[in-house]
Amino acid sequence: MGRRKKPKSRAEKKLPVVDKRPLYYINRPFGPNGLYGGMPADRGLVIRLRGAINDEKLVRIEYILPLLPGTETSECGKCGNEFKDMQCRDAHVKKRHTPARIRVRNIEDLSPQERQRMLSETLQYETEPPGFVGDGFLDQEERAEERMLEQIAPLNLEHTAASRK
Ligand SMILES: [Zn+2]
Repeated sequence: MGRRKKPKSRAEKKLPVVDKRPLYYINRPFGPNGLYGGMPADRGLVIRLRGAINDEKLVRIEYILPLLPGTETSECGKCGNEFKDMQCRDAHVKKRHTPARIRVRNIEDLSPQERQRMLSETLQYETEPPGFVGDGFLDQEERAEERMLEQIAPLNLEHTAASRK
């Protein structure tokens, strides 16, 4: 084995050696519950392209970007997936592996202190105008995530087919 090996990132080591296809990462999730290859496509998730019809398009408009060789990725301790950096990994852990908030079915089940706390916290949240069907709290969270992504991972919409005319 006289062959000189260049150092590999952990993601490169972990994914099958025989697989020489380049690594990519999810730059922009495909909606709040979008999947890539059956896996929640969270921001920063390190992947190999699956050879799907729309792969080329996803890369062109930068939903998916090539991972720079040698990138020090971060592993999720819960599911073992690699992420492009620690921030993306932590956001994934928070989103996918942190127990959901306690769901209250009946306000009578709460102790007076809990009820008091809950009511005081509801004032922090924006409520839907009366007469409209509310999007609910989760959707507000999703919209906030969309706005954040628009800042940190804007799509390259100049590369859509329509704009290349
Ligand atoms: Zn995980």
